[in-house]
Order: sequence, then structure tokens, then C-alpha cells
Amino acid sequence: MKVNPDFCHDFIIENANLKDTFKKEKDFTCWKQQIKNSFMEVMKIADMNKNIVNSDIIVEYDKIENGYRVIRYILETEKENYVPCHLLIPNTGKDKYQTVIALTGHDNDHIYNANGIMKKPELYEYSPYGELAIECVKKGYAVLCVEMRGMGELHRPSREGRALVRCGFASFQAMLLGRVLAGERAWDVTRAIDSLKNFPIVENDNVKIIGHSSGAGNTAYYSACLDDRIKTIVSSSGICTYKDGILNSFECLCNYIPDVYNRFEMGDLAGLLTEKTLKIVAYTNDDKLPFNGVKNAYEKIKEIFTVSGNENNCTLITVDGERRLDAEFLVSVLEK
Ligand SMILES: [Zn+2]
Repeated sequence: MKVNPDFCHDFIIENANLKDTFKKEKDFTCWKQQIKNSFMEVMKIADMNKNIVNSDIIVEYDKIENGYRVIRYILETEKENYVPCHLLIPNTGKDKYQTVIALTGHDNDHIYNANGIMKKPELYEYSPYGELAIECVKKGYAVLCVEMRGMGELHRPSREGRALVRCGFASFQAMLLGRVLAGERAWDVTRAIDSLKNFPIVENDNVKIIGHSSGAGNTAYYSACLDDRIKTIVSSSGICTYKDGILNSFECLCNYIPDVYNRFEMGDLAGLLTEKTLKIVAYTNDDKLPFNGVKNAYEKIKEIFTVSGNENNCTLITVDGERRLDAEFLVSVLEK
């Protein structure tokens, strides 16, 4: 008898009944409500909503640098959760600037990319062109960088100092609290959009979002599912079927949403995005999110957009080679 540790879960995955998945025979309007409710439940949004606060932002600095304004502030997104944000505003004399939310993933220097600072010089090798916020502001956008829980300044090792795997400790804690890090991050983005009302010179009810790599590409996607003020999404290396991606190979724990594979596939969430513009960037040799899995996810997304009558509002942009952060390219995708 051959013993294989994967048999049980493989069997369940193969026979999964995704109860909230899109099916043509379902009434589309009813299904959209169904997938919305299911998304809100697995992301545990009600848990953060219970702890909502109405505190002012704390501005730590507000200065002109390299020809644009840079504001660093701290935002309390729920009780006792303080999130650093960097807002960059062009200095070109406009009354109002279009806002882009820029999220970088694990192996970058997070919101410090906003100021063109690489705190870890070795990361230049991975993302020499990773200054996503700088690239946005050069193109005339106001850009808001939101630190994500478990990363950068919000990375917390265990009390023994063990970092675990990247966002591991924050993810495990959330799990024991009946929460999920992916939901907490999407919540933080919505609160960060709220905070833009403190800066009337930037758009706060019609914003765009760019996220790159797992942890950020998916946060961009999930945040747009949660917040209708986000109208355009560029998700780079963040969307793939769960089956081909994180159910098939190990990724950082912040990608895993308990119970999700009893409910829906990642592409089903397109039901919450059909009135928006969705641009998916995929890399043919992405070692974490296999290209065939991205194509499978996109097939469903395209089908859902088509049923809604908005088939031209979603696009798959394919890049040859490995996953990489190329800010200039991603901003060009945003502008297309
Ligand atoms: Zn992570």
C-alpha cells in the first residue's frame, strides 16, 4: 500500500462543491448578492466593523521632496491598529489629483518605495524598478501607499523573535481570533480611502489601485471587491485559481482564507467587479502562480464580465518570464 500524505486533501479538492460559485443557470443578480455575502463572511469584515473608530490621522511629516509633496501619517483603521500611510501629491498646480493606491508585496520595501528608499539594498536585485509610488507621481497621480499588516513596519515576529514565514505570526494570530489577514488588509485599504477626505486636493471617491505580487496583487483585488470607490484595478501576479495556485504549492500564509474552497474560486469574485475596470498582469514563468492557473481564473472572470455586459472591462496582460516588479510597466498598464 502506497501511503501519500496528499491523498485526502487532493480528493477533497477534486470533489469540492463550491456552493457560491458562478453558474450560468443561476439568476445573475441573486448570485451577485450571494457571492458578496460569502466574501464578506470569509473575510470576517463584520469583525473589523465592530471595532471601527473615528479618530483623526496623525501627520508625522508633510514636506516637499523632489518636486512633489510627501505626507506621512498614521491611521487607526480599527481599535488599536495603527497603519502608516505615505501620500505623495504632484506639484503641478491642479485643483484635484486622481488618486492611485499603490501596494507592493512581500519582497520589497513596502511603503518606503514611495520615497524611493530601499531599506534593504539587496532588494535592488529583485526589484530595481520597484518605485511604484514614484512612478505614479511622475505621471501626475496622487499616490497613497498603505502599509499592510504583517509586512514592512507592521511585520511582527513572534515574542521569541522568530519571524516564521513572512506574515506567519500575524496570520496565525488572526486565525485563532476567527479573523483572516487578507480581510484585515482589505479593510485597512477601505479605511485608508476614508482618510483621503483629509486632503481635499486628492480624489477620494473614485480611485485606482495597483498591487504587485501575492499579498498585494490579491489585496488590490480583494479591496476592490469590498470598496466601490475603487474603480480601476491593476493586479500583478496576484490572481490565479486557488486550485492551481496556493492549493497546489505553498505560499505565504497571508494568502490563505479559511473555508474559501467550500464556497468559491478566486475568479468568482469578479461578480463584485463587473462595473469596474480590471487589468490582470501575469508572468509566464511565475513560480508561485502558474500561468495556466491564471488563465483558468481569467476564463471565469471573462465569462462573468461577459454575462454582465461588460466584457471589455477586463483584460489579461501577459509578460514573458519570471514575476518581477517593474513600476514603469505597471503604471503604463494602468494608463492604457
Ligand atoms: Zn505574507
